[in-house]
Amino acid sequence: MNETSITELRGVGPELAKKYATVGIHSLEDLLTYYPRRYEDYSVITPLGSLKPGQVSLKAQIKQVTGRYVRRGMHITEAIASDKTGSVRLVWFNQAYRAGSIKAGAEYYISGLFELRRQRFSIASPSIELVSDFPMNTARIIPIYRETKGLSSAQIRKSVRALLDSEPVLPETLPAWVAKEAKLIDQRPAYEAIHFPESMKQLAQAKERLGYEEVFELSLASLLNKDELLREKALSIPFDEHLAKQFVSHLPFTLTDAQKKVVWRIYLDMQKTTPMNRLVEGDVGSGKTVVATMAALMALKQGFQVAFMAPTELLARQHAETIAGLLKPLGFADRLALLVGGLKAQDKHDTHHLITSGQAQFIVGTHALIQEKVDMHNLGLVVIDEQHRFGVAQRKKLQIKAGHMPHVLSMTATPIPRSLALTLYGELDISIMDSKPANRKPIVTKVISPNSRAQLYAKLDEQIEQGRQVFIVCPLITDSAVNEQLLSVESVYDTLRKGPFKHRRIGLLHGKLKSGPKNEVMEAFAAHKLDMIVSTTVVEVGVDVPNATVMVIEGAERFGLAQIHQLRGRVGRSNYQGYCYLVMSDSKAPTRRLRAVESSQDGFALADLDLEIRGPGAIYGTLQHGQLDLRVATLTDTKLIARARTAAQEFIDKGENLLHYKQLNNRVQQLRTVTNLN
Ligand code: ADP
Ligand code: MG
Repeated sequence: MNETSITELRGVGPELAKKYATVGIHSLEDLLTYYPRRYEDYSVITPLGSLKPGQVSLKAQIKQVTGRYVRRGMHITEAIASDKTGSVRLVWFNQAYRAGSIKAGAEYYISGLFELRRQRFSIASPSIELVSDFPMNTARIIPIYRETKGLSSAQIRKSVRALLDSEPVLPETLPAWVAKEAKLIDQRPAYEAIHFPESMKQLAQAKERLGYEEVFELSLASLLNKDELLREKALSIPFDEHLAKQFVSHLPFTLTDAQKKVVWRIYLDMQKTTPMNRLVEGDVGSGKTVVATMAALMALKQGFQVAFMAPTELLARQHAETIAGLLKPLGFADRLALLVGGLKAQDKHDTHHLITSGQAQFIVGTHALIQEKVDMHNLGLVVIDEQHRFGVAQRKKLQIKAGHMPHVLSMTATPIPRSLALTLYGELDISIMDSKPANRKPIVTKVISPNSRAQLYAKLDEQIEQGRQVFIVCPLITDSAVNEQLLSVESVYDTLRKGPFKHRRIGLLHGKLKSGPKNEVMEAFAAHKLDMIVSTTVVEVGVDVPNATVMVIEGAERFGLAQIHQLRGRVGRSNYQGYCYLVMSDSKAPTRRLRAVESSQDGFALADLDLEIRGPGAIYGTLQHGQLDLRVATLTDTKLIARARTAAQEFIDKGENLLHYKQLNNRVQQLRTVTNLN
């Protein structure tokens, strides 16, 4: 089942298989677990005589069907449907085949939006199918899937139906006692009901069953990882109070309470002979870099190496500079090395040599650190910035020859509600930095209609005139359609440079640039050789240019709240007032989501709201580099999560052997190796 190709399914040829591949469906199991995004309830049939505007579902006879071409080659199919109580007009545009495929005189289920169009009530482009005992697209609760060009929900329904009808062998994953204790419905009816629910109640039961299963598997994977890690040896790194005090005395600020608390936890972890595996969650600007540097300090003092990994080259370079500044007063700065993909061959060679010889002790870099074969034989601590989970495999790669595991510290600004973090990252110890440096002023945040661009530009120019700098972030690199003109970095850059900001120095930055030009632009901006940077979200994580005070986000409604909050965190990093302008792509009333960013500066609260309004995908979209997305479990359903976690713990405490559960074991082993660092 899990390996069987989708082409084995009746009705799925190579063409359709290609389309399925674009949404990640390759096997039958992929299709089975391609859960609907949402559902539309067409289960209540309305007599035609009592139709009211809105989504409706009908059972009616088709009286007549006509197809004709009207002006400019547009085709219209019209039909009249009636029952004993009345009749209604149905229309389809440019679907010429409809006229031939709908049979006059036959009885159909019809579902769609009943509304007034050009002074006539009608249903445009309804779904329609012959009356039967098992309607798929009408007259029931209808699953709506994530679609793609040429792959409609109707097509997916057809394939899923064919799959379920083929009586696939579904190997049970949950131990019987777990399913029984949790009072879950069986797997088979759960799959049926998540795709084709008969009622909302049945759908809820299906979600509970499948969600429970997911959380149980994830929890088991992380508990096993944790167990394994606790059996590994690490080098104990003692705490040197004098050194810590010395470091703090050179800082231009005092540490926040949260920073002190977290650093102390880390010091306790590092003194143990089992490896630290801690995740520090702290909102943007909460000062995580200093915390990591303080952890590194103790390792350096003992003569161990430290690897500091950043998600982008840009950030790695910036961190290297910041850290050099922090370590300079203590005389450790000359032990720093930078290792990124974009180094010239000779530089790379030299850096490798410095690392293997142990002269370089603090190595800042990107994934090049684990990808390139560079021998950090004396590695005591790994810091991972803006990532959440460091996989078992990566850790193994870094295992020191003597058989010691390095301590690992991960840091993230993505606010993950605690219950969820426990499930997704259960093998980690989590510390939350819950206070920010005191000098931070709230960032003035405003939603802007595209009509007010002129006023906005005047404000930006005022800031630039005062010596400040501006970020403009766009959702796209190039224009993909005419109406998206204002959303691409390239066209915005062009327009601003030739028009309103002719007299200013503007840079262009996006992910497709080579690393050389990219660094030049970023460095120029940091050195205030540019007034403005037009960019994609590559500036999102971590970039620190305190003189920048304005963040403009074009097409703001397209971004997740967590992402907007991250972007906003790029400004307001100094004593200057920070501003964030959310420019909408049309002049409709701002959504509740954007209003929320205007009024709240709290990343956790915004993440919760996005979870509520857009569902887990919205937040976890940013995390889904691995397969760590929960597909069914409503992540806000903390009770379900807690129950499933407890059951996983019970499974281990009972001394159950995973090998006795073949399917469960397969899934759990797969999950254990998932990481978002690939
Ligand atoms: P993040 O948590 O987003 O990674 P950074 O570590 O980049 O935040 O810190 C943001 C800015 O705040 C930096 O310029 C840093 O020097 C400054 N900073 C860090 N800790 C403090 C503090 N306790 N008081 C004042 N400023 C601080
Ligand atoms: Mg940071």
